[in-house]
Amino acid sequence: MKNVIIIGSGPAAWTASLYLARADLKPLVLGGRSPGGQLMNTTEVENYPGFENGITGPELISVMEKQAKRFGTEVINEDVTKIEQNDKKFTVLYGDGKKEECLAIIITTGSSYRHLGVPGEEEFSAKGVSYCAVCDAPFFKDKVTLVVGGGDSAMEEALALEKFSKKVYISHRRDELRASKFMQERVLKSKKIEVLWNTELKEIKGDTTVKKAVIINNKDNKETEMDVDGIFMAIGAVPNTDFVKGLVELDDKGYIVTGKQPKTNVPGIFAAGDVQDHIYRQAITSAGTGCAAALEAQWYVEELNAK
Ligand code: NAP
Repeated sequence: MKNVIIIGSGPAAWTASLYLARADLKPLVLGGRSPGGQLMNTTEVENYPGFENGITGPELISVMEKQAKRFGTEVINEDVTKIEQNDKKFTVLYGDGKKEECLAIIITTGSSYRHLGVPGEEEFSAKGVSYCAVCDAPFFKDKVTLVVGGGDSAMEEALALEKFSKKVYISHRRDELRASKFMQERVLKSKKIEVLWNTELKEIKGDTTVKKAVIINNKDNKETEMDVDGIFMAIGAVPNTDFVKGLVELDDKGYIVTGKQPKTNVPGIFAAGDVQDHIYRQAITSAGTGCAAALEAQWYVEELNAK
């Protein structure tokens, strides 16, 4: 029987496990088969305090993991499929039919890129369709690229592509961007970036790689086939909560509902990081809620053990 199982392996997971390991609660991290979360797709992280000259996302995850392991965190990189509740215990099912019992759980499974669901999107995924310009922009040197979305992520994608592509289009479905003013200004003053207002991507065509984007103007319904080499989707995120549907309360977007404290509606299950936060979604806010969840889990387990 474990005290606490932490599901996920981003900043929330490593912070929670560090605190619990230092409290001698010997936490188990079930980190997933693609561990590390979204920071694994981030190059420079310049806004995580403590790293004066910045650090890459994968390096940051790596040092966090090492720090948590130094105090005795156990790690298994398998996907959790289900959580069963029986009285004051939980059974966590993972991998190929394996299971582990525990007294408390911290869910830190983060979120994934939202897919648009248009014809060609899956077919050309990694063949010109990408969800991370920071990762893939160098593959589009002197090419024409298209970003879909109007939020801060879309602006960030376009600015990352601007350094390599000869032309960057942004297709946005409205006549006003959702992104912050600062990011908008950077994009709108770029000579390489052009916003296609009131447009929607309808289809992606190609042969072995992307060749064309079919765009429709939703004001006059005019359809245009554009020659493009790469398409970057930046239309938000979807929380990774499928495995807890029906167990803990989720909001209408699928995020785990927590209050001021990172508690779910199920005593003994806590949540931290992007899986319960669709507003801030920063490494540092994830780490902060990971710490709070660890303290809550520690107090919960100590109270159970005392009884
Ligand atoms: P977001 O703010 O939710 O923006 C998503 C964008 O995608 C919106 O412009 C939305 O259009 C569009 N969209 C959604 N579904 C669509 C669909 N089916 N078809 C076409 N367009 C669709 O998501 P985000 O940009 O990922 O940002 C999430 C949060 O992280 C925000 O709070 C943001 O400020 C923050 N963030 C900040 C930075 C930064 O400051 N550097 C960078 C990245 C993210 P509508 O506008 O019409 O709804």
